[in-house]
Amino acid sequence: MDNLTPEQRKKAMAAVHSKNTKPEILIRKALFALGYRYRIDYKKLPGRPDLALPKYHAVVFVHGCFWHGHSGCPNSKLPQSNKEYWTLKIDRNRKRDGESLNHLHAIGWRVCIVWECAIQGKNKKMKIERAALTISDWLQNGGVWLEISSATQREM
Ligand SMILES: [Zn+2]
Repeated sequence: MDNLTPEQRKKAMAAVHSKNTKPEILIRKALFALGYRYRIDYKKLPGRPDLALPKYHAVVFVHGCFWHGHSGCPNSKLPQSNKEYWTLKIDRNRKRDGESLNHLHAIGWRVCIVWECAIQGKNKKMKIERAALTISDWLQNGGVWLEISSATQREM
């Protein structure tokens, strides 16, 4: 049994519900459609990857540009109010992400980061498919590191 108050439980349920509309779900579905089978219960790995493909020794993160401080991305612009607070918070997130990446590489996992800006906005469906194809190429032939952002999507 959990110890949540009804109010907390309501919030928790809402969080679970919203999880199903999250970008990582769309990436999972697109990879599934390409024939990949993945695990989502590898949360014990550093940084709690959104999905893991043990067969390829690869993990995928789908990162929100704001929370994870996507550098140079318009979506990561900090609010004008409480700027100091946000700067500290986002810097801390970035630092933690960096440590997770180093740790994952050290224990032999290849890491892909999909920034949300890569799969948002106009032609969202096409962008998601394109990202999944890029991930697929990387899984088959790539190195230890892949980063997909709106900028890398445009280069294709
Ligand atoms: Zn971004």
